[in-house]
Amino acid sequence: MDGNSSMSVESPLSCAHCGKPARLQCPKCIELKLPPAGASFCTQDCFKKSWNSHKSVHLKAKSNTPAEHEGWLYCLRKGQKRSPSLPYFDWTGTLRPYPISKIRLVPNGIEKPDWAIDGIPKVEPNSDFQNIVEIKTPELIERMRETCRIGREVLDAAARMIRPGVTTDEIDEVVHKTTIAAGGYPSTLNYHFFPKSCCTSVNEVICHGIPDARKLEEGDIVNVDVTVYYKGVHGDLNETYFVGEVDEATKQLVRCTYECLEKAISIVKPGVRFREVGDVISRHASMSGFSVVKSYCGHGIGELFHCAPNIPHYGKNKAVGVMKAGQIFTIEPMINAGVWRDRLWPDGWTAVTADGKRSAQFEHTLLVTETGVEVLTARLPSSPDVYPWLKK
Ligand SMILES: [Zn+2]
Ligand SMILES: [Zn+2]
Repeated sequence: MDGNSSMSVESPLSCAHCGKPARLQCPKCIELKLPPAGASFCTQDCFKKSWNSHKSVHLKAKSNTPAEHEGWLYCLRKGQKRSPSLPYFDWTGTLRPYPISKIRLVPNGIEKPDWAIDGIPKVEPNSDFQNIVEIKTPELIERMRETCRIGREVLDAAARMIRPGVTTDEIDEVVHKTTIAAGGYPSTLNYHFFPKSCCTSVNEVICHGIPDARKLEEGDIVNVDVTVYYKGVHGDLNETYFVGEVDEATKQLVRCTYECLEKAISIVKPGVRFREVGDVISRHASMSGFSVVKSYCGHGIGELFHCAPNIPHYGKNKAVGVMKAGQIFTIEPMINAGVWRDRLWPDGWTAVTADGKRSAQFEHTLLVTETGVEVLTARLPSSPDVYPWLKK
């Protein structure tokens, strides 16, 4: 078909430029299915003369499409309108938010937590298990094993795609699809209105970064935090990855953070005080000149995403209680190259270091056993070989 044929119109419209009978319609307007009134012209000449003022109609039409409006805009705190431009903030480092894509859908057959539809957890905040640390039944423990194993496979799928040029939104897409393919729901999706299926925290982001259109750059670090809901229980884990070649100081920060988690796990067994976890982590971090984030803690997990116990990662904390066999919780130290203090971006989620220096994190979901600990989200023989210190 001839390209010009779409320009012909039969209806008696008048030229938007000179008012004479029109016989041409703007091809872009046809493509966007916009009405011919105001978009019709008598001649190519009138069309060309109108172009500068007319073309804004196309942009306007695009931004008014509901699906478009929902996505590719900056995420702001619930209650505020999503912003078409960067909000004002006293940014602590060089990272900035990028537009986020529209909400990803979860098929009907998949069991969803109670916040999936309206963004509000209902059972979780009112549960007795916010105060009492649940001792899990063998049946629940078995379900936790399955869910945590899926979580590990999902995180590994994300790890395999980390390289310069990949956007954190593309990572989110893989997390979302892999979770669903396994029959699970990505727990973070719509949890207190969090808009994505995982958290991606780049460089100075401590945690809860929102996947967006920013491309990972050579020398970045990115933490991917995955939680899967499957068979009525949640499994939660995260790792920090290198993007291409990173500088020596960053390698040390990430390795130290990995070791902090390993050392914390090594003390877990019945009778150990929850507050001791923070002492072990802070001792190892400060040995390397790093600091420990105080605002975000490890947490109980099971049929609830977040519940008792609360496990601080910093030293001399006042956490109450001792570990008992059958308890399940996460340990997830966030270690900063500079100061421990954090600040929150205007999106209400992204926690960044107050001085803009880098932060790393690792997380496992752990079961206290009669003799020690079982790492439910442990690396598998198939997990990608991304840490030089783990190579044989
Ligand atoms: Zn997590
Ligand atoms: Zn967690």
